[in-house]
Amino acid sequence: MRAILLSPGPVSISEGVRRAVTRTDLCHRETEFFDLQDQVIKALLDIYQCKHMEWAAVLIGGSGTSAVEAMMASLLPEDARLLVLENGVYGERLSKLAGIHAICYQVLKAPWGAEIDLHAVAELLASGEISHVAAVHHETTTGRLNPAAEIAALCAEYNVQLLLDAVSSFAAESIPFGSSSLQAIAATSNKCLHGIPGLAMVLCRRDALAQNIEPRSLSLHLPLWAEHQARRSTPFTPAVNAMLGLAQALRELHKQGGWQARRTRYRKLAADVAASLHTLGVKQWLPADESSCVLRSYHLPDGLAYAELHDGLKQHGFIIYAGQGDLAGQMFRISTMGEISDYDMAHLEQAFQSVIVE
Ligand SMILES: *Cc1c(COP(=O)(O)O)cnc(C)c1O
Repeated sequence: MRAILLSPGPVSISEGVRRAVTRTDLCHRETEFFDLQDQVIKALLDIYQCKHMEWAAVLIGGSGTSAVEAMMASLLPEDARLLVLENGVYGERLSKLAGIHAICYQVLKAPWGAEIDLHAVAELLASGEISHVAAVHHETTTGRLNPAAEIAALCAEYNVQLLLDAVSSFAAESIPFGSSSLQAIAATSNKCLHGIPGLAMVLCRRDALAQNIEPRSLSLHLPLWAEHQARRSTPFTPAVNAMLGLAQALRELHKQGGWQARRTRYRKLAADVAASLHTLGVKQWLPADESSCVLRSYHLPDGLAYAELHDGLKQHGFIIYAGQGDLAGQMFRISTMGEISDYDMAHLEQAFQSVIVE
């Protein structure tokens, strides 16, 4: 039976992407590969109509965290004074990365799932002590969509630069590329783009790449990848097959109407899941209008352990996701990214009924 992944990556892929991944054997030193690489870079920039003169899409091998790490390690100068906004696991990961790469940082922390206090952000930025902000757009820990546009506007007001983890929002939520403060976003092939794991990317301003920052890493140094990719080369073996899949996934995204159409589709799926669960007495962790279109988190029903819910749904062909850390015993998460049909949704509703009612 085909398993439908309701996890926040990897996602269920289309048959077209599945075929594309194994379509051909491709050597990464051949012109066919560089055509593919050029095509993927262009299509990534075109999703949000980023101007190719101002923005670069840099492809790297690795998971979403590799892209976030490459962004942090490559784009923060030695004298940066970074403010990290935390309200979940991925915000905490930004701080961890700052620590590992010896970047001077401070944290504005909200409890997991809580809102980021924008007044507190403004106060910190007004102090003049901050040069950069790092934030998570969609905090996948709880499904909270952080206000990227407002954060970018505050950064612009105080002449501070913004780095955004958009790993679970790129290609499905609105991203403030037009804001002068936004320097870079990190993303991955295997979430809202509907590709397979192994390929990640950072979209960043060309000015940010040109800062001549001393490398903090060899294989995650974005200017190295970017410089090679600009002249139809690659420094290391890239994720060739993931790139074949992504090229197809990007064609499908375009054909389906781009990121806005994807957001509309995801919103419908998320609302349908919430409605089915609501009928069964399952409560949402966050209000719908504070959640991303990508994922919503729910309270585990009384008397039903996560393992029972997970295993029951798995028998019906659906893979759901647990809460992280202290939330593991209280929460479950349903992501509706990926290739999910209306038929799958009807089947999911029946699966909920049989596992939760029992
Ligand atoms: C999935 C995710 C990541 C990266 O996860 P990987 O497991 O490294 O792919 C980073 N940030 C956010 C917000 C995510 O949802």
